[in-house]
Amino acid sequence: MAYTEEEIRHWLEEVKDPEIPVLSLNDLGVITGISVLENGKVKVEMTPTFVGCPAIDYMKSDVKEVLAKHGVEEVEVRVSFDTQWNSNMISEKGRQALKDFGLAPPPKHNLIVELDILEEVECPNCGSHNTDLKTPFGPTLCRSIHHCFDCKETFEQFKPI
Ligand SMILES: [Zn+2]
Repeated sequence: MAYTEEEIRHWLEEVKDPEIPVLSLNDLGVITGISVLENGKVKVEMTPTFVGCPAIDYMKSDVKEVLAKHGVEEVEVRVSFDTQWNSNMISEKGRQALKDFGLAPPPKHNLIVELDILEEVECPNCGSHNTDLKTPFGPTLCRSIHHCFDCKETFEQFKPI
């Protein structure tokens, strides 16, 4: 076999979220399955973060493009809804990347998102928890807008779901 599943996963680090160019789909937890078949064909399974996410077609072709660059010619990308994506699937590295990008990472939760975790968000600029939710509807489906009382900055959070 010319390549392994680990190599494929490593190469897929190059595929970034189209809205958050510092975050790879891998770290976002969107790549939920990789298999290398005997004939060298690669199957990639993706679980979209939000149903009807308009970026999914873009991400699919990006996955194929990156793998083609590494010599993987036959790639099948399957969008799967078998498991539901949730924001706990974002890796630690992904959380740090979000923070560096100026987006508050979603807090880990027990799959029940209560309003208070939307309200007490740590400011990515100064680390203060003295913040307020301005609107749960940010510029994209996955972001909410917050205000920090300490550094007076407005920031966005990648919403916990
Ligand atoms: Zn602040």
